[in-house]
Amino acid sequence: NNLDPHVLVIFGASGDLAQRKLVPAVFDLFRGGYLPKNFALLGASRTDFTDEAFRDKVVFNNEHFDQKDATDEQVKEFSEMLFYQDLASYDSEKDIKALAARLKKLDKELKVGQNYIFYLSTPPKLYSTIPAALAKAGLNETKEGWARLIVEKPFGYDEESAVKLNRDIQTHFEENSIYRIDHYLGKETVQNLLVTRFANGFFEPLWNRNYVQSVQITASETVGVGSRGGYYDESGAMRDMVQNHLLQVLAHVAMEPPIRADAHSIRNEKLKLFQSLRPITRKDVKNQVIRGQYTAGVTEKGKEIAYRDAPGVPDDSKTETYVGMKFFIDNWRWAGVPFFVRTGKCLPLKLTEVVITFKNPPQAIFSEYDDYAMSCDNQLIIRIQPDEGMALEFGMKVPGEGFRVKNVDMDFFYRDLTKNDVPAAYTRLLLDCMKGEPTLYARGDSVEAAWAFIDPILEAWKNDEVPIYSYPAGSWGPLQADALWIGEGAGWRNPTATLTDKKH
Ligand code: NAP
Repeated sequence: NNLDPHVLVIFGASGDLAQRKLVPAVFDLFRGGYLPKNFALLGASRTDFTDEAFRDKVVFNNEHFDQKDATDEQVKEFSEMLFYQDLASYDSEKDIKALAARLKKLDKELKVGQNYIFYLSTPPKLYSTIPAALAKAGLNETKEGWARLIVEKPFGYDEESAVKLNRDIQTHFEENSIYRIDHYLGKETVQNLLVTRFANGFFEPLWNRNYVQSVQITASETVGVGSRGGYYDESGAMRDMVQNHLLQVLAHVAMEPPIRADAHSIRNEKLKLFQSLRPITRKDVKNQVIRGQYTAGVTEKGKEIAYRDAPGVPDDSKTETYVGMKFFIDNWRWAGVPFFVRTGKCLPLKLTEVVITFKNPPQAIFSEYDDYAMSCDNQLIIRIQPDEGMALEFGMKVPGEGFRVKNVDMDFFYRDLTKNDVPAAYTRLLLDCMKGEPTLYARGDSVEAAWAFIDPILEAWKNDEVPIYSYPAGSWGPLQADALWIGEGAGWRNPTATLTDKKH
């Protein structure tokens, strides 16, 4: 490997994310031989752990830590790279100095050349506090090496708070040292959208208003809020899914070709795309955005209680567990093409997919044989997860008399490309940060532009200018979301659990 030696400091290391995702991801990098020889992970939070107790929690007694094919010796060797520093609070000068002293000691022992990654895996209210504290201790800019900051979602609660958070952090860290993590961008299939579009000659000529009828993106979950109702009620589907993950997927589907595949070029194009979203004004919200909340029902997981009855959720909550929306992109490529996005909890299937529906041929010459030929949708279905892959649907002749037409599909499954496990999103993203490669991280200006698009919708909802519709758990959301499609053709695709309904 050619990574610089460094220390990865995780703030909030006693928490859920560190245990479920971050330490297992660092272990994957270790197993894959990616970590530099001189490396340490330093957990930092208020819980009183010794190094050994921390190793126990995140390695030896961690149900999310999968040893896979590694030997016990390898696991032990990995665990000995893990250290812990407790803090009375995240902004106490004394504690940050103690952390700096611990880093200096590790630096000396391991010769990491003052290269540090600081990962903010704490509640978001500390995202401004910790960088300021690091700056006080001189850890934001090291003399010999580099200092990078990884920020977890959410990046703000609305446009105003996102701008403030960016300014607060940018006071202490240069923009190119700030890595805002959006785990959707770590998914191979999201990255593959760019390769599909820009490594092939035949998709891109069709990828525009001349040939595309509509674009739809679905991200559905089958689970409800479970015991996280208190947290979820503060956020809702728009903030939790649309503002970040789904607008990032949209950017990959709709952006212009970047001049190069580097961070600057790709992220410039994404920003332009967000800036071209036609604003949904408060008065348009009722026609373009449907918010829903699940009531009791039956999902594939069994009986589900109503959202408002979930622990931690107020009886009169108006937090949306479903969003279905329609909007336009005002640029030359997409003028007039409707884009649809839907996401929700307690829906029938768990999946994320993009569907491009192409326009019909100019004449339906086979319609005298078959009504079906009038409405034969040419669709490209891109499965982000699960059953990652792509299918192209089109009409073919049914053998026999006349010209009857039947929809068939050509498909490609991502798993056929590699026998190895596709790296998990956090593994890939952490590796990129260790390399100093920010392409798959969100840039501050585009985060702000995405919020600017979402803000008027949230305002209209806050002021109760539009109703919140209910839908029974286990259905595809409120029926009102179907009306978004009136006059626009295709309608929401009714997906199957696998990419296509063929057996493989
Ligand atoms: P968490 O378990 O609630 O918190 C992480 C740690 O922060 C806790 O162990 C705690 O450590 C410290 N902490 C908690 N409440 C605090 C408070 N009021 N004041 C000061 N410190 C507090 O959070 P998490 O689930 O690990 O997530 C970390 C961040 O990642 C969050 O911002 C979350 O939005 C984001 N995120 C999480 C997930 C996930 O799957 N969990 C996914 C995406 C994004 P000490 O008490 O030891 O200091």
